[in-house]
Amino acid sequence: MKIVTVIPGDGIGPEVVESALRVLEALGTDLAPDVLDHVNAGTYRREGTALSEADFARIAASSATLLGAVGDPSLEHTDYVRSVLLRLRLGFDLYANYRPVRLWHDRLSPLRDAAHRGIDCAIVRENTEGLYSGVGGAVHPSSPWETAIDADVSTHHGVSRILDFAFSVARHRVCMVDKANAVRSGGSLWQRCWEAAAGRHPGVAASHLYIDAAAMRLVTDPGSFEVIVTNNSYGDILSDLAAALAGGIGLAPSASLNGTTGFGLFEPVHGTAPDIAGTGTANPLGAILSAALLLEHLGYDDEARAVRLAVGGAVAAGRVTPDLGGTLGTADATAAVLAAL
Ligand code: ATP
Ligand code: MG
Repeated sequence: MKIVTVIPGDGIGPEVVESALRVLEALGTDLAPDVLDHVNAGTYRREGTALSEADFARIAASSATLLGAVGDPSLEHTDYVRSVLLRLRLGFDLYANYRPVRLWHDRLSPLRDAAHRGIDCAIVRENTEGLYSGVGGAVHPSSPWETAIDADVSTHHGVSRILDFAFSVARHRVCMVDKANAVRSGGSLWQRCWEAAAGRHPGVAASHLYIDAAAMRLVTDPGSFEVIVTNNSYGDILSDLAAALAGGIGLAPSASLNGTTGFGLFEPVHGTAPDIAGTGTANPLGAILSAALLLEHLGYDDEARAVRLAVGGAVAAGRVTPDLGGTLGTADATAAVLAAL
């Protein structure tokens, strides 16, 4: 028996996690969910902390974590989200953010030309350093001379391991994306680590694009990519672009992984969506496909394939929520997947 810790969280998080749990349950595997119901905004408001050390230990003892979403508009100026998500990301050193992007049906593409629609790729984003490291500061605040600096941190260790991770998940080709022609020091480091990593993985074709060219290519020829690997900020932007090309964030899954220990946190790309929380209309497919990633990661390949087939069937039949052009609520969209399963 393998324990999967589950953090439903806030907003639509609990709604879509319930769908994912129903799908996991229907598969009849030996996975046992351990639900941490209290890791949410209400607990933070009452106790000043939402993820205790005991919770952290429970997660550490499990095989993987499935998360809905955490966040609350009224706690925007507190450290609530960081105290949960950053604690998990840094605590388990989840350095690889893996986001597969697949166009489940041509109807979902915003692109006009059907030839542009063959999207089946993955974006591997470095998740622990880069521009979001929090290194920097400002001088002469609130004056005409105010100057703000945010350092774009890349380490040999951090870059090498994310590049190796990208090669490890690719079958045929990896494209590394940077801006080495303008960002000199980090660009040089990424380029040198890239050549070394490509040398360690001779069976996989290695190519390179600057971020501007990569953004354009994702729109004009998305089918040409298999795995794209890049830093934290470029990965942030490219993965939303890619998700939009494949029908939006409602059905985009993600995994945050430690490629060394194998621990993983699986969650839909979307957030708490406060605008639709409680309306019963949230698309459950992002959470369900995140559960499929979790299954695959833990070695349940047949089950993962069955879930993806069922999702494909429900999408093809138009049995989906309004964000994908359907008319079903969360419960009925989930039932459609369960029926296909
Ligand atoms: P957070 O700060 O938690 O990320 P947010 O306000 O940025 O919250 P997101 O969850 O990122 O909201 O969603 C952005 C937009 O996409 C919202 O308008 C939301 O309604 C829509 N959206 C997100 N997830 C879904 C979903 N699963 N089904 C339908 N619509 C969704
Ligand atoms: Mg958001």
